[in-house]
Amino acid sequence: MNVAELTGLPDGVPEHLEGEGIEELYPPQAEAVEAGVTDGESVVASVPTASGKTLIAELGMLSAIERGGTALYIVPLRALAGEKATEFEQFEQYGLSVGVSTGNYESDGDRLADNDIVVATSEKVDSLVRNGADWIDDLACVVADEVHLVDDASRGPTLEVTLAKLRQRVADLQVVALSATVGNADEIADWLDAELVDSDWRPIDLRTGVHYGQSVHYDDGTQEELSGGSQSQTAAIVEDTLRDDGSTLVFVNSRRNAEAAARRLADVSSESLDAEQRDQLREVAEEIRGVSDTETSDDLADAVEQGAAFHHAGLARQHRELVEDAFRDRLIRVVAATPTLAAGVNTPSRRVIVRDWQRYDGTAGGMQPLSVLEVHQMFGRAGRPGLDPYGEAVLLANNHDELEELFDRYIYADPDPVRSKLAAEPALRTHVLAAVATGFTTTEGALHEFLGETLYAAQTDDPRRLKTVAEDVLAYLEANGFVESDGENLEATTTGHLVSQLYVDPMSAATLIDGLRDAARPSTGASSVKQRAGADADSGDESAGFQTANELREERETPAGEDGAANEGDEDAPTADPTPLGLYHLVSRTPDMYELYLRSGDNEKYTELAYERETELLGSAPTEYEDARWEDWLSALKTAKLLEDWASELDEDRLAERYGVGPGDIRGKVETADWLLHAAERLAGALDVECATAVREARKRVEYGVREELLDLAGVRDVGRKRARRLYNAGVESRADLRNAEKSVVLGAVRGRRKTARTILQNVGHSDPDFEGVDADSSVAASVSGSGDTEDDAEDQTSLGDFS
Ligand code: ADP
Repeated sequence: MNVAELTGLPDGVPEHLEGEGIEELYPPQAEAVEAGVTDGESVVASVPTASGKTLIAELGMLSAIERGGTALYIVPLRALAGEKATEFEQFEQYGLSVGVSTGNYESDGDRLADNDIVVATSEKVDSLVRNGADWIDDLACVVADEVHLVDDASRGPTLEVTLAKLRQRVADLQVVALSATVGNADEIADWLDAELVDSDWRPIDLRTGVHYGQSVHYDDGTQEELSGGSQSQTAAIVEDTLRDDGSTLVFVNSRRNAEAAARRLADVSSESLDAEQRDQLREVAEEIRGVSDTETSDDLADAVEQGAAFHHAGLARQHRELVEDAFRDRLIRVVAATPTLAAGVNTPSRRVIVRDWQRYDGTAGGMQPLSVLEVHQMFGRAGRPGLDPYGEAVLLANNHDELEELFDRYIYADPDPVRSKLAAEPALRTHVLAAVATGFTTTEGALHEFLGETLYAAQTDDPRRLKTVAEDVLAYLEANGFVESDGENLEATTTGHLVSQLYVDPMSAATLIDGLRDAARPSTGASSVKQRAGADADSGDESAGFQTANELREERETPAGEDGAANEGDEDAPTADPTPLGLYHLVSRTPDMYELYLRSGDNEKYTELAYERETELLGSAPTEYEDARWEDWLSALKTAKLLEDWASELDEDRLAERYGVGPGDIRGKVETADWLLHAAERLAGALDVECATAVREARKRVEYGVREELLDLAGVRDVGRKRARRLYNAGVESRADLRNAEKSVVLGAVRGRRKTARTILQNVGHSDPDFEGVDADSSVAASVSGSGDTEDDAEDQTSLGDFS
């Protein structure tokens, strides 16, 4: 089918597509049009990577807009939202507007209402629906990109529920669901009442194989010996591809590995460059350096000068775009990437190497193989239509057994089926509360009816299971005071509304509330780890508030003993404020915090710490004899200790070494703790628990990474933890001090950087922030330069400066 034959699109669009080199529809695209994608029909397109799914989505959205509606495009990753929006902006010349919503959790619903196409993640859409965005009702078309991700245990349920909610809320909503090739696309289509386009057509042939020894063993039974035979397997393949004037994409399992591989492969790519290419690459490298002055930026530029690059979600968007463009222009000859690239960005290459087929999985506590679907998506990036005769994708085997294993596991394997993960309790807790709190379902009957519209319900052989889990979850929400029910009508309590808006797992909220109440309870001396745990285990105390719904059900079936009394204590005894460690431990115990793992020796170490600081820990502790719960308790304590060290101004390098983590992990923990402590503060306020001040202070200390005495100073923009410490040590202890400080002292504390000193004084509201003619105080400067870290000045400008 020719593009010119398309109808129902805004004027000029078919010609525009032709101008972009799209004259004839690819077969799956033609099938989608025949299935009615331009007439408002719902379509599920399950086709291989790089087979033109985006155009199918665009046809659906553009025709919906032409009919007077608006469209929503749901992306799987925040990092892709901007890229997708930019792609759609090519159509703005035909009178439509594109908006992107990536903000964290706040509602920017009004601003979005004016757009014809909105691009957002499913979490964002879920949050917009919760916060009452009206424009949702005007939607005509919703696109779910990478819909097979409903299979993802952590994020899938939100996508699934969001789609189900949108479909229930908007009558006749057109759903265009794009999926990689999966084993059961028909089930997804049934669930969405959509036509199915299921195809394995590719615009270019693909050979797949496994490299072992000196040869690649291909799926058609042939073998090809690679010349080169030098260094590593990866380098040998890259060298062989270069000899054929081709480029290579190497998939690895972590950012750090991507950077290291790019560094090594730069030696190989460098040899293939001529003088002109070197000049052009130098220009690209300069642009990359100009994007930001971080070490990552420099490392990337260094590799690019030699024709290699790395690509991962930690790069700035301009970095990624510069790399992608230079790779498409065949200047960069090899890119080492994390799988983000496979998911969304169009960067075909002559050869693809899947170097790492396993990845560290925290929930499994070790390395886990990638799914067939993920590996096939990476394979799909091989071969540039019109340029290469075919694409080649290879895995790497270290021995003969692995060669066979990889063939069975990935080359001959059928794609995995997609299975809903909705019946998992954490997902249901969150979504059931949201459904009730937003008034989306006001009765139990309506709730079950809604859940009946999910993929889970469509797939399960045991329809009662979802109902039972949902009932357990409701009972859990009721027991924790988030929802009230009279047996049929459901209503969220004030706390329930707050929890839903805070976007925390209700179990996290219950854990927080329980801990905060414990903190506010008069101390009785009866709260030692062992005694408290014993009391709770016996009493089955429902007020403990962080049982699983399953535990709750067991308890209801076997009537509980004395309720709660063990925790009440003596009302007249004095209460002590919770300590930062106690609060960090509390937030680290919630399911929203990804805990640190215990390594060998940690069990003893943190058990000792648990006893040493037991009076600070909040809520009911397990006993040492409850293995799994006790380990959880200790993992949370390890996480809490990291946070406490961070808030005691320990250097990031030391932290990384002490806890065996990377800078990104520390940042992740700090940000999550900040967010959960914010939730705790709001909950404490709403429940009148008198420790909101202590919570706020603990939160500020985590946010800035400083001890208590620096809180005031570190809150000034551009000061940050290290400069605050230097100022403090030089006698400038507060904002007021800073406003009246000797300028020479301030200048000394920022190592003589006038511009920085000036900015800081401006930010603190100094009447005359000028530093002309001021000299740094020599004694302050001397003590600062002796303080070790001399390279950090560019880095420590923000509160999270250590990470930038
Ligand atoms: P997918 O989303 O399936 O991975 P894309 O939508 O990114 O694939 O398409 C891959 C490439 O194919 C894009 O560069 C796109 O412009 C191009 N393309 C899509 N449809 C056609 C077509 N009908 N004719 C020529 N090129 C096309």
